[in-house]
Amino acid sequence: MNTRSLSFRLVTWYAGLLTIVFVALGALTFLLVKHYIEANLLDTQARRAQQIADTLVAAVARTGEGTVAYEIEDLYSPEANDRFIRITREDGRIIYASSMPKDHSFDPATVPPASLTPTGRFSRKESLSAGDVLIAAQAHQVGPHRYLVEVGVSASRTEAILDDVLIMLAIGLPIAVLVAVSGGFILVRRALEPVDRIAAKAEEITQHNLSERLPVLKTGDELERLSVALNHMISRLEDAIQSSKRFVADASHELRTPLTVLRGELESLLGAGAAARAGAAADGGDVSRPETLGSMLEEVLRLNGIVEGLLALSRLDAGEAKSEWVRFDLAQLAATTADQMSLLAEDKSITVSCEAAPEVMVEGDRARLKQVIVNLLDNAIKYTPNGGKVRLQITRQDGYAVLDVVDDGVGIPTEALPHVFKRFFRVDDSRSREQGGAGLGLSIVKSICAAHGAQVEVSSVLGHGSRFRIRQPLVGEPTGILGASHLAPSGPPSGRYQGFT
Ligand code: ADP
Repeated sequence: MNTRSLSFRLVTWYAGLLTIVFVALGALTFLLVKHYIEANLLDTQARRAQQIADTLVAAVARTGEGTVAYEIEDLYSPEANDRFIRITREDGRIIYASSMPKDHSFDPATVPPASLTPTGRFSRKESLSAGDVLIAAQAHQVGPHRYLVEVGVSASRTEAILDDVLIMLAIGLPIAVLVAVSGGFILVRRALEPVDRIAAKAEEITQHNLSERLPVLKTGDELERLSVALNHMISRLEDAIQSSKRFVADASHELRTPLTVLRGELESLLGAGAAARAGAAADGGDVSRPETLGSMLEEVLRLNGIVEGLLALSRLDAGEAKSEWVRFDLAQLAATTADQMSLLAEDKSITVSCEAAPEVMVEGDRARLKQVIVNLLDNAIKYTPNGGKVRLQITRQDGYAVLDVVDDGVGIPTEALPHVFKRFFRVDDSRSREQGGAGLGLSIVKSICAAHGAQVEVSSVLGHGSRFRIRQPLVGEPTGILGASHLAPSGPPSGRYQGFT
């Protein structure tokens, strides 16, 4: 259980507050019930004392003190009714005192003598060894004498009732809290359930499916407002990303034509040896020498490369139609590409070998996948010193076509590995510039792989070489479950990196 989750925290607060409120209410109820029962009992005793005082004690002058005891026994039978009655004269002489009640709840003999000074009605609670006794007293003046009539009853019965109330509260309160908390938990879970759905959908949305939206529940609450606001934000992001993609695509497209013209012009100038005419056109710059023209052409070619790369990336970002997709043998494509590229490698005396398993059928855009192999081989040749070796291997593994481009070149430093698939990233600016790279080759590889559901990873050891691996699902074969330790998806900025020797 996630103790930091909103539902857990809400329910904990709710349970805590509810327990405090219920306990306070229970304690208040208990005290009120106790007060009410005791007051009621004392009131009954007081009325009885008043009755005795008004009838029996008032007649003492006429009937004599001796007959009072007899009449009380006769009319009230205190022992049989588990009651205590005592009549005391002001000089302390006890006219009558009841004996042990039938239920033996207390011993009347142990009830301390009452104070005879107060007048009128008063009550008290005596704590005896056998238990508490609630006593109501009534003073009555008869001629020269004042008598105090005390009527009491054991508090054990009220205590039994209060014990029952206490047990009821002790059982009832936790049950009430439990029921309320469970109900609260279900309500909170239900109320927050859309948050999980919104979060799951938000996780799925990337720049490739920005047209999708978060679920909006028509509940009229804050969550509806939140999902509507987030959807508006996604719309604005989609617009911004679309317009920036359009801008890159349009800009690269527009740059392409003048660059091609420039390139053609420079080539013809160089070819015809028209250095003087070029010098005049170059606004005072010294382009009169053929090497200057050559360097200009080199820069134009580099610019051309960047523009072509940007155009390819913007098209891939926009999501190319699958109409170009065909089923073909990747091994065969790799073999012919390696063959063509070996001409380039010959200049550096690098041997390019290709080991391909037969019939490695995949589905995709043949030209684009060829571009992947070309880019990887081109890099391998570029970053391998003269006389080195480049190997291309195509195998089948667990339902995947696995293409490895391995070289024994300069390698890539570990700290640069996570960035090599980023746009315009170059490990070493001067090194790449010399080779003519703009840092777009591998990002094109990654984008093409992503469009084909393939994964790309790199491992390298500086000074020893690099291995680039592409895993693409084979056609018509179920793919095996990939262990997380083998591959990383090509979607995120970088592949999986590991050193190898
Ligand atoms: P570039 O056009 O500069 O080669 P890439 O995107 O193809 O750009 O590669 C990015 C960087 O990764 C390169 O600048 C280079 O430093 C490094 N790199 C790529 N492939 C290799 C390789 N096979 N060996 C060593 N370094 C490599």
